[in-house]
Amino acid sequence: MTSPAPQDTADPAPQRCGHIALAGRPNVGKSSLLNALIGSRLAMVSPKPQATRLPVTGLRTEGNVQYVFHDLPGLLDPGYLLQERLRALALDGVQRADLILHLHPAPDAPAPDLTLVAGMPAPPAAPVLTVYTKSDLVSPERIAGLAQDGFPVSTTTDSGLVPLLAAIAQRLPLRPFEYDPDDLGTQPVRFFVVEYLREAAFELLGDEVPYAFTAEVDEFRESSDPVYIRATLFVERKTQKGILIGDRGRTIKELGRLSRIRLEELLGQRVYLETWVKVLPKWRRSPAALARFGFPVDTKES
Ligand code: GDP
Repeated sequence: MTSPAPQDTADPAPQRCGHIALAGRPNVGKSSLLNALIGSRLAMVSPKPQATRLPVTGLRTEGNVQYVFHDLPGLLDPGYLLQERLRALALDGVQRADLILHLHPAPDAPAPDLTLVAGMPAPPAAPVLTVYTKSDLVSPERIAGLAQDGFPVSTTTDSGLVPLLAAIAQRLPLRPFEYDPDDLGTQPVRFFVVEYLREAAFELLGDEVPYAFTAEVDEFRESSDPVYIRATLFVERKTQKGILIGDRGRTIKELGRLSRIRLEELLGQRVYLETWVKVLPKWRRSPAALARFGFPVDTKES
């Protein structure tokens, strides 16, 4: 063969970029799927429902396709104020998306209608793909059946992720990339400090305290080595403060250690994390406190 190798003179494939909402009930595996799709641990995973609070955005850029995934807080019935806000955020995310993944656990298939589950007045404008999560919990025959009308996936075995990504890519609009192809997330590191502290709280504390727990970063010195972070941890009651601190400070020490290890992984740098505990009664029901912790303020309530 003497002919020269073909030159790549054709235009590169046009870029596709779109927003993909991960919607579904609490505990269906939204955070796990987001982490698996972007190959990093951005969103917190917890066996307790309603652990995700603010939406986390994760990015994946591959060839000419940029996926912007939004892990939305659960679509719940409103209970107290925080949950109403969460639901409003989730519905907002669903309305803005170019594509919606409706997550439903494979063992509980078939998935109900998303419009009904979410209590939306009308179906969303964007196309909806049904994703059957936790497919490792059902038989291969059942998986084959689910693949007829949806995308069975497992984040335990990573099965089904490649066909799901291909199906998403086909449906994303032709649009230039919105983010740097090297970026994995769009949120500031401060956001992840709070997320990791909350994740550790869900791992270490009983059933009640994690829901009353949040954190705020008071100081973040990125240029120091180790990176210096000072955070205040909030609970609603004095008894919860006692549980959070633990016998001779054992629990809070472990909470700081777990969070620090995850932050060091994320930053690729050593971290010094200092924490203080404060009681802020009923913060979950206070519009001012919710606004302070970054939950959007609903003008109807203020
Ligand atoms: P979210 O509340 O919808 O964000 O759900 P999470 O991602 O926090 O997951 C809820 C629970 O389901 C956690 O205990 C996960 O470990 C578990 N889980 C998530 N994905 C899978 C999966 O593919 N297989 C199995 N067996 N469990 C999973």
